[in-house]
Amino acid sequence: MGPIFYIIKSILITAAISTLIALVFLSHFWQAFAISAALQVIIFYIINTIRDVSIQKLENQRIAEYSKQGLLLKCPCYKQNQEFVPIVLNENNNYNCEVCNKPVVVSIETTTLAATVPVDLENSQDKISQIYNKITNGN
Ligand SMILES: [Zn+2]
Repeated sequence: MGPIFYIIKSILITAAISTLIALVFLSHFWQAFAISAALQVIIFYIINTIRDVSIQKLENQRIAEYSKQGLLLKCPCYKQNQEFVPIVLNENNNYNCEVCNKPVVVSIETTTLAATVPVDLENSQDKISQIYNKITNGN
């Protein structure tokens, strides 16, 4: 169903509701029809705006929560207490151990690896057979 279907559908619903309301005020049918149609447009505009704002708020919350990642870490104390520690990459991550109550500093280390690129067999087939021929035939 395309967007045109939804536009036609909402126009038909708006017209139907406006007709029903206008039938109550039969002596002023078109005035009542016009006013109720206008009111519906205004009400739906307000509802959609409120909905868009709340969707945006949820999206912002989701982004904020997404940045709060965590790790299951072991305290360096002899009890080796394991606990879940929230990690924020752009901040210093310190916490107090639940067991020994000593402050622990989380050190985040990163390493880089060269990505491997798969060989493009389609285009290298000719070169491979050239090399193969050179090896086997000596030319
Ligand atoms: Zn500890």
